[in-house]
Amino acid sequence: MSVPASKLAQASPARYISTRGRMPVARFCDVLLGGLAPDGGLVVPQAYPRLGADELAAMRKLSYPDLAFAIISRYVDDIAEADLKAMVHRAYRCEVFGSAEITPLKTLEPGLHLLQLSNGPTLAFKDVAMQLLGELFEYVLAREGRTLNILGATSGDTGSAAEYAMRGRKGIRVFMLSPHGKMSPFQRAQMYSLQDANIFNIAIRGVFDDCQDIVKAVSGDAAFKNAHRIGAVNSINWARVVAQVVYYFKGYFSATRGNDEEVSFAVPSGNFGNIFAGHIARMMGLPIRQLILASNENDVLDEFFKSGRYRVRSSRETAQTSSPSMDISKASNFERFVFDLVQRDAVMVARLWREVEEAGGFNLAEAPCWRTLAQYGFASGRSSHADRVAAIRRIHQKYGVTIDPHTADGINVGVAQRETGVPLICLETALPAKFAETIREALGRDPEVPPGYEGLESRLQRVAVMDPDVEAVKTYIAGRTKN
Ligand SMILES: *Cc1c(COP(=O)(O)O)cnc(C)c1O
Repeated sequence: MSVPASKLAQASPARYISTRGRMPVARFCDVLLGGLAPDGGLVVPQAYPRLGADELAAMRKLSYPDLAFAIISRYVDDIAEADLKAMVHRAYRCEVFGSAEITPLKTLEPGLHLLQLSNGPTLAFKDVAMQLLGELFEYVLAREGRTLNILGATSGDTGSAAEYAMRGRKGIRVFMLSPHGKMSPFQRAQMYSLQDANIFNIAIRGVFDDCQDIVKAVSGDAAFKNAHRIGAVNSINWARVVAQVVYYFKGYFSATRGNDEEVSFAVPSGNFGNIFAGHIARMMGLPIRQLILASNENDVLDEFFKSGRYRVRSSRETAQTSSPSMDISKASNFERFVFDLVQRDAVMVARLWREVEEAGGFNLAEAPCWRTLAQYGFASGRSSHADRVAAIRRIHQKYGVTIDPHTADGINVGVAQRETGVPLICLETALPAKFAETIREALGRDPEVPPGYEGLESRLQRVAVMDPDVEAVKTYIAGRTKN
């Protein structure tokens, strides 16, 4: 079947380009397993589909997996519909996420809600995207007759979400580096207690940056990378972003009665992946009033939205906080939003990121595009350790609900920045069980352990402890990727 030339020339949500303009147009499966675009930019769809009122109305009635299919399938045209539908239904099951709703909405008071994204296997929102990614990776690798060895570094949430999504899958192994003795006992137990033959935990005697440096060195060795089919599942992965768009729709439908109402979202942010998914939902026509970005002490993004200045931090300037998954020095998905903000001018984006490389940042305050920022609905703020502790205490006293420190940042900033009369949905990005120390400080007792996680910390652990030595890590991987 031939496609009319006029159709081919049209911008399609299922065709992908780079924010720096030098990548041949690609399809979903071409970009699924990759990280950065070959020109150093990030992969984005040529266009966002704009949903009509009738399409939005029809979506309101759908179950989570059907809604996920309705949204994600717009961005995919190289997987058979029946296959994609089956994968989405396997990923978003009641048994995996604890309820058929997958991301239930909890109302704290009229007009103030918590969208519960953390009921997956690792108790953080990253499971929502990662569980689908596991299905997609296995499917595409099998179709192409390939295997992949995922190499990553984690300080907590991402690594465990990746391991739980990939465990037991055919054609995939995971090698995950973590800083020896630096994660919380719960996080450590979550990862190291996995006994699956395709999961390899490597604890490095060092800090997270040492782990990250080893991953960069190993991936930077092109010969090793090719010989051992090394890949990644980092936060810039496009499929992860698009999977996260779904729960903005789900949250909106749960909090409203009709599609003429507006809501705002508060999003605890680090690498800008979660809130960027909200931006996409808004561009698709979901009636989102504000996207409220919450930073912790590491306020790179809050500074940008307030001033137009994007200034990346050194690791020395990056604080270790009690909302550690938001401790970022630069925001890896942010380039995707700037691409939209500058009217998709790839030459401009390439120039801005050259300035990031050479001068540590850029300033858009004087650029014409800065005056258009308001049309995207962003607001921002920051929240400190004392603010988090106070919020955990306040929400517990007022509503009898215990929130985690990341969610606390979101609620603090969301409540401060919200417009009166517009319902606010705060994204719950992790459960308090993962961050016992801060919960003890706020409430004077341990957080509740969800059913099934009792005794997690006393389960048998499986981990190789190694020095921060690139060659030793390569030898370890090479010995385990023979076929
Ligand atoms: C990863 C993470 C975040 C930050 O999300 P981004 O997509 O990187 O902005 C916030 N909270 C928790 C608990 C996380 O794990």
